[in-house]
Amino acid sequence: MSKTTHTLTFLGTGASCGVPSFYCGCKACDEARIDLRAARDCSDLLIRGEQNTLVDAAPELRLQLIREQVDCIDQVVVTHGHFDHIGGIPQLEYYVKLKSGALVPVYAGQQTLATMSQQFGFMTDSLAFNQLVAYQTIELDGVCYTALPAAHGGDAFGFLIQTAQTMAAYFPDTGQLPAATLGYLEDLDILIIDATFNARNWMPHSHHNIDEAIELSRSLQAKRTYLTHLSMHYDEPITLRELEQKLSAYEGTIHVAHDGLTIEI
Ligand SMILES: [Zn+2]
Ligand SMILES: [Zn+2]
Ligand SMILES: [Zn+2]
Repeated sequence: MSKTTHTLTFLGTGASCGVPSFYCGCKACDEARIDLRAARDCSDLLIRGEQNTLVDAAPELRLQLIREQVDCIDQVVVTHGHFDHIGGIPQLEYYVKLKSGALVPVYAGQQTLATMSQQFGFMTDSLAFNQLVAYQTIELDGVCYTALPAAHGGDAFGFLIQTAQTMAAYFPDTGQLPAATLGYLEDLDILIIDATFNARNWMPHSHHNIDEAIELSRSLQAKRTYLTHLSMHYDEPITLRELEQKLSAYEGTIHVAHDGLTIEI
């Protein structure tokens, strides 16, 4: 791994409904209509070094890349084939045809690749699919990505993301993590974890609520944790202000991610 400094930018940090949801007038959505810091696109990451690597491609990808002043994408690593994580892939079609001229490599599990080829069949001349298997590590632009099984149905992965100085883990969609995956998450510098629900967890087999995400962070003793994939309005609405207040009990170790937040890795 090279010593190049890399940054990780949270392009989006919301659950699939986004914050605000167009149909919702709860206090979390109303807060996000006034305070942009509380507004959330669907979840994805940009890892920047000498190249630009996407981890997932949210449906809002075009606007996210314009906001972050990104004009090239070198490769995409995909956690799973749900629309909120792959809906932005078609944005790459004209990027390839009109600018880069080279296929964009896309790395994902077998079922996720099958979903993408079915949904984006018109892009076979824009994307180069590369299949990942569980526990496989690939190195892209000096960063190692290890595909770790998540609890989210099919072959959904989270990724261990390692640079020369930082060990981070990204699990935007997962229920309680499988024991074999947990074995890879000791000594984490940064844990980025699904905190989809507040209070009652509607889907405990495929998501965390905020309290479960906090509990995981504490049991792994990650140095820093960022909550992501937040709905903020199910089952009980919670405002960003209230969530930040709640997390202040953890003395700066557990944070709420927000769209556009950039950290060094
Ligand atoms: Zn709402
Ligand atoms: Zn999902
Ligand atoms: Zn999702």
